Amino acid sequence: MNSENEKILSQSVQFLKSIGPKRADSFKKIGISTIRDLLFYFPSRHLDRTTTITTANAYSYLLDGFTGEITIIGKVVEKEQIRFGKKELLKIQMRDSSGFFECVWFQGIKYFSNLFKENDIVAVSGKPVISKFHALQFTHPDFDRITEDESINFLNTGKIIPFYKVPKELKVTNLGDFSLRKIISSTVENYSNYLDETLPEDILLENNISGIVEAVRNYHFPDCHENLLTAVRRFKFEELFYLEILVALKKYNYKTKISGLSMKVQSNLIKDFLNILPFNLTESQLKALSDIRNDMGKALPMNRLLQGDVGSGKTIVALIAMLIAVDNGFQAVLMAPTEILADQHAKNITALLDKLYKVHSERKIKLSLLLGGQKKSIKEGNLKEIKDKESDIIIGTHALFEEKVEFNNLGLVIIDEQHRFGVDQRWKIQSKGKTPDIIVMSATPIPRTLSMTIYGDLDVSIIDEMPKNRIPVKTILRGDKSLPDIYKFIIDKLKDGYQSFVVYPLVEESQKIELKAAQTFYNDLTNSYLKDLSVGLIHGRMSWQEKEEAMLKFQAKQFDVLIATTVIEVGIDIPDANIILINDAQRFGLSQLHQLRGRVGRGSKQAYCILVTKDEFISINNKHKLDLDYLSPAMMDKYRAAIRLQSMVNYNDGFKIAEIDMKLRGPGNIFGIQQSGFPELHHADLLNDEEILLNAKLKAFEIVESDPKFILDKNQIIKKNLLRNYSSSLKYSQIA
Ligand code: ADP
Ligand code: MG
Repeated sequence: MNSENEKILSQSVQFLKSIGPKRADSFKKIGISTIRDLLFYFPSRHLDRTTTITTANAYSYLLDGFTGEITIIGKVVEKEQIRFGKKELLKIQMRDSSGFFECVWFQGIKYFSNLFKENDIVAVSGKPVISKFHALQFTHPDFDRITEDESINFLNTGKIIPFYKVPKELKVTNLGDFSLRKIISSTVENYSNYLDETLPEDILLENNISGIVEAVRNYHFPDCHENLLTAVRRFKFEELFYLEILVALKKYNYKTKISGLSMKVQSNLIKDFLNILPFNLTESQLKALSDIRNDMGKALPMNRLLQGDVGSGKTIVALIAMLIAVDNGFQAVLMAPTEILADQHAKNITALLDKLYKVHSERKIKLSLLLGGQKKSIKEGNLKEIKDKESDIIIGTHALFEEKVEFNNLGLVIIDEQHRFGVDQRWKIQSKGKTPDIIVMSATPIPRTLSMTIYGDLDVSIIDEMPKNRIPVKTILRGDKSLPDIYKFIIDKLKDGYQSFVVYPLVEESQKIELKAAQTFYNDLTNSYLKDLSVGLIHGRMSWQEKEEAMLKFQAKQFDVLIATTVIEVGIDIPDANIILINDAQRFGLSQLHQLRGRVGRGSKQAYCILVTKDEFISINNKHKLDLDYLSPAMMDKYRAAIRLQSMVNYNDGFKIAEIDMKLRGPGNIFGIQQSGFPELHHADLLNDEEILLNAKLKAFEIVESDPKFILDKNQIIKKNLLRNYSSSLKYSQIA
């Protein structure tokens, strides 16, 4: 890399024309310090001939059934604020040379009203409709202002105009749409030539990707739409390529460490265990188990993701893996995300081990449970057992690995509900033993492209089948006026042995308020609808001992109803709890609702998930056909909560639910990617850039396999760029 170029680009933006110390300061506040930073401040949109049409054309397109996004350049004619009932709207009339159109806002009326002045020229983008009064109408459109000159130039030459976000930090120093565009334009003109290439030549050629200088120029000021797409594609590719290089390095690091933990995977212990199970494993469970056995038999460390919907029976598969490890003389660890879940795992597994001991008395398997709030004496006893290799199976929360636990001979680590932990956790564990085998379990299904990155270094087994005795949970959506009837139903079902969860959302941040809300809710119910029932309460402010007590009493049927916050969300398994009533269900996220629903229907009786919400969320459902593929983003925004609830009613399948969740959240907010420890993506989108990702991955893995230390000449560029731009993601790989 050319250090002379570097020097020039590393100069402060203050050296640029029309940027003084004040403006430089405000640029700094939005993360732009150097000239290089400014070159990479790309437009958020472009005004483009291919999507810009006249009002008259827009009319005829819409009449032909067109529903996509368009842009019209118009001049503000007049503003109007209209009241109807309690509501209010802002309507702005605009015109172009071919006719009139209008923009409507229901929110931020004052703000938008002040923003637009008569004769302003605005590029309005959105999906318009033809209104009741035959007007061409945009609702809450995107818009950008342009100058008269720009608009004339654009209409005459078709030159593409970039639009940049102007954050308030810049506005303070009088930078606006026009001035920012001017500054960036001259910077690109004068400085983009100094950029050094960051991708190897052969990759550029093979993938038909433009060089960095050309790409930067075309991203800002493309001559045509085609050039813009090519430029954007380069940055998407680059981002995904380096992401996959990181993934490949991680995988490479695993595979080259020899664990020496090659285990014997067939034994009487396992055979006896399968015999004492009250059920047969499903085909999927057997397949996952065979994958795991395969891995454990090999001398390489296992890194496997076990994915399966809520209730598909992952725990038993994990337990068998633990027994294999124990049978080979190793310790096995099971980590749960919450203390009550760890506690529950310990209880269930102890019961199974006792049963096993009756038929397999050669070996008594010892289980230790390690929890955060344990008494000092108990904890120290446990730690000693673990250290002295008295414990075979160790169960605990992640606290287990934050403290000074010394394992004696750790052979296997199982992480339940992996999405609850960061990726770092896995690395911490592996540093504890001699590269033990690892299984991570997750009930959150994710699309292939995403798992290729977040879990790209793992092998995957999927349990895609439910145990045979299951009847799908019936999900019912009701308005809160129905609550008395629902409580009657809960009481009525008691005679069939049904227990119920009653879940309520907590929005308060403060612990004190939360505690009070929980108690108030409990008092209200036990003084009214549920006054003749025995009712328990469990919430997040209890110690795990208190939680355990409540769960045990519920399990022992001392409570008919357990009032709960989302502390019961993950993993809890009470076979006779067959009703879950979720209050204010609109407040919960979709995967959270699905997890909560997974708390019931774990036995063989018909279970019910009753979602209670405000009437408005139900009447919306009746009025509109909530088909996601046809909903505009604006509709999605508006009806997000209603869509979540309706999806719960329509679908039981976790994969379908996850897919909808992803669409509703948008690719940027997908759960897991933030915690994955990978760099943030600015250009690429894991849901929609699958093809680019596949190519980038192929190339990245090929390079890491053939030249993992980046010694070859042609790969020097990769090494340099990794060290410069991705150093914080490299902490687990040694490339230098
Ligand atoms: P999850 O995959 O959500 O962790 P669990 O492992 O908690 O699910 O299993 C849910 C319930 O199903 C448990 O009560 C478990 O004993 C039971 N179970 C697991 N496998 C089977 C099977 N093959 N047949 C019947 N019941 C099963
Ligand atoms: Mg589970």
